[in-house]
Amino acid sequence: MPFTPHARPETAAEFRENLAAVRARVDEAALAAGREAGSVRLLPVSKTVEPDRLRLAAEAGATELAENRVQEAVRKHDALADLGVAWAVIGHLQTNKARDVAAVASEFQGLDSLRVAEALDRRLQAAGRGLDVFVQVNTSGEDSKFGLAPDEVPDVLRRLPDFASLRLRGFMTIAANSPDEDVVRGCFRELRGIRDRAREAGLAGAGELSMGMSGDFALAVAEGSDCVRVGQAIFGARPAV
Ligand SMILES: *Cc1c(COP(=O)(O)O)cnc(C)c1O
Repeated sequence: MPFTPHARPETAAEFRENLAAVRARVDEAALAAGREAGSVRLLPVSKTVEPDRLRLAAEAGATELAENRVQEAVRKHDALADLGVAWAVIGHLQTNKARDVAAVASEFQGLDSLRVAEALDRRLQAAGRGLDVFVQVNTSGEDSKFGLAPDEVPDVLRRLPDFASLRLRGFMTIAANSPDEDVVRGCFRELRGIRDRAREAGLAGAGELSMGMSGDFALAVAEGSDCVRVGQAIFGARPAV
């Protein structure tokens, strides 16, 4: 499966090659869909990767990194503060971590309840800052996945303006983990439909789509993704947990 040159990059040069290889595949998928090369954002997901290797990735040109565990994001944010990397927090958040997200994150891709919106807004107001957020939607219907059910989205969007520090930037989903491309594509199409309907109702602004990971980013780009979140294809396989 490794379609990048280095299965476990160890130097800045190797990271540069992996980043370029993924970038090229994202651009190829964009062009095939009649979209422009460079129009899809590539967000590297650095979870489980230690700070010394992240320094190399930054040296290779990574300017933003995403983490799904808040404690890990805080630890790396502090360890790499000199680099000026922008940290994204992705995935479900417990309300007791809202303060740390408000402190270190430049965006949050995992808003899945008004409780979390309220907790974040309180911390952000106290810190005097705003935060870009993506609403996470469970498009696969799998119980193991977080996110709002599709039919819950409009109500949550209607109430989001109550939380003035949150700027709705778009929608995020994790597709079904299925070998059937139609099933995976169906998840991405569902998110796009949710975004389109929200736009029509005046609830979504631009409504970027964050969808696609190492195993399915080409399909996501074909279905209109604006941001792919890619970990293993850049950094190497993660040990199974
Ligand atoms: C881990 C993770 C990714 C990246 O997965 P890879 O298989 O490493 O590309 C993307 N999105 C979320 C929410 C994740 O937790």
